[in-house]
Amino acid sequence: MELVLPVLLSALAMTLIIGVRYLLSSGFFAWLTNRIRPGQYSRLELQMGRERRWSLASAAIYGVPAGIVAWGWQNAGWTQIYTDINMYPIWYLPASLFLYLFAHDTWFYWTHRLFHRPSWFRIAHAVHHDSRPPTAWAAMSFHPVEAISGAIVIPALVIAVPIHVGVLAIVLLIMTVMGVTNHMGWEMFPRWLVQGSLGKGLITASHHEKHHELYRGNYGLYFRFWDKVCGTDIGLGTFDDNSARRGNG
Ligand SMILES: [Zn+2]
Ligand SMILES: [Zn+2]
Repeated sequence: MELVLPVLLSALAMTLIIGVRYLLSSGFFAWLTNRIRPGQYSRLELQMGRERRWSLASAAIYGVPAGIVAWGWQNAGWTQIYTDINMYPIWYLPASLFLYLFAHDTWFYWTHRLFHRPSWFRIAHAVHHDSRPPTAWAAMSFHPVEAISGAIVIPALVIAVPIHVGVLAIVLLIMTVMGVTNHMGWEMFPRWLVQGSLGKGLITASHHEKHHELYRGNYGLYFRFWDKVCGTDIGLGTFDDNSARRGNG
């Protein structure tokens, strides 16, 4: 019983951290969007309010498994997170980064496809697609059911797969930045990357925007691998179409 309070406090602390991380990262890219593409989010105030409320609710859901596992890491040796860089060969650092991203991408792809089955869509995924077009605030705008499916991935991985604490920080950074920028309504990466050979494998805003536009295809998170293997890759979207769709040029 004496474990309940510290674990609860850890979950609360993680909720706060994830909530603040969301407000800072989405806030920064929303600010950047207003600087670079003024008017992009005009007339989307109501939608952005919804996106912020769902996202902050998701922060509380993400905070629970993260808090439990963070407590277990510090106090009970539950995780495979290591701090001594020599514990595994140096090549394992980039390998573990890729492994984590690929595992997360795989989980996301298949659960995302499930969420697009009509019965699941209505229950768990319509909330996320309520963003038309999405904004930087939509990064964590998920129904609680979808938030739970996302919240367990990294905690499960750190229990099962060794990772250096610094690499874990990079995973979380990539997760945060791509979650926001894939929804912000414009492409921040240069054309040579998006249209080039790197862009054939990596997912950026141009790819995910098309998923939000057509409600089907492009289900992946970081890599186009599963979309290509399963024939669900529908190519890259263009953001001009979006402004035309909103009717504000
Ligand atoms: Zn979707
Ligand atoms: Zn999305």
